[in-house]
Amino acid sequence: MAYTDTLTGLSNRRAWQSRFAEMLLGARVEGRPLTVAIADLDRFKRYNDTHGHLAGDDLLTATATAFRAQLREGDLIARWGGEEFVVALPDCGDAEAAEILDRLRAAAPGAETCSIGYAVWNGSESAERLLERADAALYVAKDSGRDRVRSAAAIPVAS
Ligand code: GH3
Ligand code: MG
Ligand code: MG
Repeated sequence: MAYTDTLTGLSNRRAWQSRFAEMLLGARVEGRPLTVAIADLDRFKRYNDTHGHLAGDDLLTATATAFRAQLREGDLIARWGGEEFVVALPDCGDAEAAEILDRLRAAAPGAETCSIGYAVWNGSESAERLLERADAALYVAKDSGRDRVRSAAAIPVAS
């Protein structure tokens, strides 16, 4: 239970941290690509305000189920916190990630939408840096209108 998010049944952040470290190690050892994405429900505060917090909870659970149904056996999904989910796609480069993540985006329940930012591991950066880049891409997705997927590769690198 210490590794499970009680609302959605997904892995929690703690579980993510240990499982993702293993994934990153695997990618390093085997020289394989690895993509990390952060998905965030759009205007979720408004959803809570309109439908109530319990309905918001139900939406989070339905989102978790819908997202999981789009992923492969070896993929990892966790609830990062609030209405944010983090996804790891092993053996997945930019083009393939774009396709999978667009399916994820489209799977948001009912009329609700979500925005997704992702980054492909550059072969040397830390897990923290990789997540930071995915988060920056999420910000771009939000800023350019929501309900879309954006790659960190499209963002100019700040050193
Ligand atoms: P944006 O499109 O920019 O992401 O807007 P947003 O409203 O989704 O984002 P914001 O960060 O303003 O609001 C997130 C909301 O998520 C606010 C908070 O009350 C709600 N929230 C966080 N955790 C839970 C939860 O476990 N259950 C419910 N029902 N709501 C939650
Ligand atoms: Mg959020
Ligand atoms: Mg949100």
